[in-house]
Amino acid sequence: MRLPFQKRVATFEHGIHPEYHKETGNLPIRRFPFAPKLYVPLSQHIGKPAIAIVTVGQEVLRGEVIARADGMFSLPIHAPATGVVEAISPIPCDTGEMEMAIVIRVYEADGQEVRVRNPHNLDGLNGVELAIVMQEIGVAGKGGAVFPTHAKLIPPNGCVIDTLIVNGSECEPFLTCDHRIMVERAQQIMAGIGYAMRVCGAPRAIIGVEDNKLDAVAALEAALPADGTVTIKVVETKYPQGAAETLTHALLGREVPVGKRSSSIGVVMNNVMTLAYVGRLLPLGEGMTERVVTVAGPAVARPGNYIVPLGTPLRFLLDYVGAKSSASEVILGGPMMGNAIASLDIPVTKGVCGVLAFGKREVAVPHTYPCIHCGECVNACPKKLNPTQMGLLAAKREYDLMADKFFLSECFECGCCSYVCPSHIPLVQQFRVAKSFLKDRKNSA
Ligand code: SF4
Ligand code: SF4
Repeated sequence: MRLPFQKRVATFEHGIHPEYHKETGNLPIRRFPFAPKLYVPLSQHIGKPAIAIVTVGQEVLRGEVIARADGMFSLPIHAPATGVVEAISPIPCDTGEMEMAIVIRVYEADGQEVRVRNPHNLDGLNGVELAIVMQEIGVAGKGGAVFPTHAKLIPPNGCVIDTLIVNGSECEPFLTCDHRIMVERAQQIMAGIGYAMRVCGAPRAIIGVEDNKLDAVAALEAALPADGTVTIKVVETKYPQGAAETLTHALLGREVPVGKRSSSIGVVMNNVMTLAYVGRLLPLGEGMTERVVTVAGPAVARPGNYIVPLGTPLRFLLDYVGAKSSASEVILGGPMMGNAIASLDIPVTKGVCGVLAFGKREVAVPHTYPCIHCGECVNACPKKLNPTQMGLLAAKREYDLMADKFFLSECFECGCCSYVCPSHIPLVQQFRVAKSFLKDRKNSA
């Protein structure tokens, strides 16, 4: 498809063009089978973990609340399958920690339709009332930070939101679940945008989509509301176009001041997948029990986008898609900002957008050479930081200087600097170590 001439491609400064490997973007979303046991962590979002309200041995129905939210900055958890609670115990999670989880033995003979819903009349609810009802469906951001969606949408005191930005950029290599959601669920996205605008008070929404997904642009265009409050802006295919700062700059030309949130410049951002789930589940009063996940990578025989029940163990997931015996590293999320995991017992949770499996060859660590001061990393950094200097200081463990003089906290760990470095210096890894050192020191002070 050709881009219509009137759609100028917006973008941000710097960034990189990695190899994208987006072949799964052409395949329709498929449904995944239920694993014999689902491992459902009580904390699948930023904020307070949910509180279990079921006991071992209790039968649960798909869609039933099995853990309640602990305050406004928390989310309830719904049973992803009909079955029986076999245990409530710690399991390994994508956070790298052991987290409490409800283990459900799935009834194999059950049809597994959603059996419990709690619909409300949404007409006439004001923004705060709608946010409270939205909390009940348990949706968290699907784009990485896993923020409870209702809490993210409520503007902080004194902030006026003029624009809801809808993130359809999906700039990470391999990931295509947002792409397929835009192609296949455009109506649900529009419904979700409508609810989100009511909660945050924004009079308009702009959907930012990279120009390598023009079939998604066409599908969204066909579903736009007639009143003109929602528009689509095509942005350049460039990494990290989908980061909050870069997409805000590309679409509105606004910068978030250092140390502030995007609400301070009148913006709230949500991901297309998040809003598709809000648009589908909120009118039904249905809890979140599954999500679309890209399963891909060179060591996967049947890559694609799958609707996966929450709590599905990665071992079951990878077996089903035919993970090859050569698979030696599994990454949750994209290859640039995702995390390598240490256990295949970790389950799929609300924030897992991708499961990528790589062989030894693709993840071999290259030899590191001294910095040649080429400046490639500076030219790539979308935050206009100085990775050269920060890298040199990190090697000497001068973490305070990195923070005080070179704005380490502004680095959002996109990995562009490491990607372009001809000396293969693991810059972003060094910056993560520095940040974690400073955080630990602050917490123990
Ligand atoms: S990882 Fe940090 S320093 Fe490196 S390019 Fe990204 S924002 Fe800049
Ligand atoms: S890209 Fe690597 S070699 Fe070049 S200036 Fe940056 S750290 Fe040094």
